[in-house]
Amino acid sequence: MSEQRTILVVEDDPTIQRILSLALATEGFQPLLSTGVAEAQQLAREHTPDLYLIDIGLPDGDGISLIRELRSWTRKPIIVLTGELNETDKVAALDAGADDYLTKPFGIEELKARIRVALRRLAGPRHSASAPLIQVGSILVDLASRRVSRGGKEIQLTPIEFRLLAVLCSQPGRLITHEALLDAVWGPSYHGETHYLHIYVRRLRSKFRDHEDSREQHIETIARLGYRLLASEVKSTDGKEA
Ligand code: CA
Repeated sequence: MSEQRTILVVEDDPTIQRILSLALATEGFQPLLSTGVAEAQQLAREHTPDLYLIDIGLPDGDGISLIRELRSWTRKPIIVLTGELNETDKVAALDAGADDYLTKPFGIEELKARIRVALRRLAGPRHSASAPLIQVGSILVDLASRRVSRGGKEIQLTPIEFRLLAVLCSQPGRLITHEALLDAVWGPSYHGETHYLHIYVRRLRSKFRDHEDSREQHIETIARLGYRLLASEVKSTDGKEA
């Protein structure tokens, strides 16, 4: 039996829900439908969907707190459906742990493209077994096994956080521009969306921070241009200097 991916739709507008459900089924996904936060939480726990489409304004709560709750236990992609051109909602949703957003009204082709990208991102870039180990201060990044750790203790990253880190690791010590990072992590249609980057770099930094007063720097900000990974050492997987 081929594996059918499940997508949880959280949307209280019956028309949009019907359109989404039809489009997803046509694409071979199994849509799970819910109209509010409580129902969505229950379905999420029961079915552990492969992807989430979440509306912000819901009758029994808001999508932002739902995202925050989901992010406490799942790393699966979350795409937010925002009602209008509401920059605050988008940033709040990304901050809460969403991976992407779609502004209503959106086209079905755009929706399908965003879903494909989100699922591909989850699969992640393929690395050979000989991918290097990168030491960034006290943080060790193992690109082959996709593990990030400090002193043997794993630091949990979401797929996008890892992808961003992997792109920074691809050129340790070199400036990577905002556009190049957006392109590599989110795709060419994200040029100019630097707020995504700032949010994700902030998240990586806070996960890397040992304790509040830690002075250790891992990712350097190059004002208006981009970011640079402050790698202290690059080793091959057998421990030798690469
Ligand atoms: Ca709504």
